[in-house]
Amino acid sequence: MISLHGVDKHFGDLHVLKDINLDVPAGQVVVVLGPSGSGKSTLCRTINRLEPIDNGEIRIDGEPLPSEGKGLAALRAEVGMVFQSFNLFAHKTIIDNVTLAPMKVRKKSKDAARSRAMELLERVGIAAQKDKYPAQLSGGQQQRVAIARSLAMDPKVMLFDEPTSALDPEMVNEVLDVMVSLAKEGMTMLVVTHEMGFARKAADRVIFMADGAVVEDTDPESFFTRPESERARDFLGKIL
Ligand code: ADP
Ligand code: MG
Repeated sequence: MISLHGVDKHFGDLHVLKDINLDVPAGQVVVVLGPSGSGKSTLCRTINRLEPIDNGEIRIDGEPLPSEGKGLAALRAEVGMVFQSFNLFAHKTIIDNVTLAPMKVRKKSKDAARSRAMELLERVGIAAQKDKYPAQLSGGQQQRVAIARSLAMDPKVMLFDEPTSALDPEMVNEVLDVMVSLAKEGMTMLVVTHEMGFARKAADRVIFMADGAVVEDTDPESFFTRPESERARDFLGKIL
């Protein structure tokens, strides 16, 4: 479903992604770990082409990433992304946040978009807040709306870049619970997070990155109990 072959990316002189090779089959949940600056966000951003790459190839469901135009809008619909900062439209209500792109990009009717949005808002536990504005919601609620908004496009893949890092601790679980249920339903997910509880509960696979390279690629149990590299042992020593 997600496939990267020989992906290289530089920011000026900085080599931020070094020959990344990664094949994620449909339904797999991959947790990406690594120290700050190791290239985790850049990896996510290349997959929905917020960042172009210098070398290599990225495919989603077998199709190479388009570089511009209509193809790019379609790609962004198929590859949902949830960021640390919730990025909701501040001047639109919750329901409008969720219906906007399906109407514009997927050409859904207003009725169809609203009924699907309400289903998704129910699912993330925010239906009662549908007419409020983002600033009237807690961080955890806003992040759940951001997830619903991505899901409204019927994505094939969901990318999460530290979705709980900006939240107060008591709100972390309400967001992780939504992600766990999504994982259980078979969504293909790439999740950058340091939440070990999520990794243990939901991940099929752990990728550990350091200095722009994939250093370990294994199952969660092996990674947490028997990390092979010095870098991973050092990292786990700091976060566990
Ligand atoms: P992580 O998410 O693992 O913390 P990032 O992917 O954000 O790492 O960053 C990887 C490296 O690339 C860092 O050294 C960061 O400073 C650098 N970087 C990220 N984005 C840019 C950018 N737009 N321009 C220049 N350097 C960048
Ligand atoms: Mg990051």
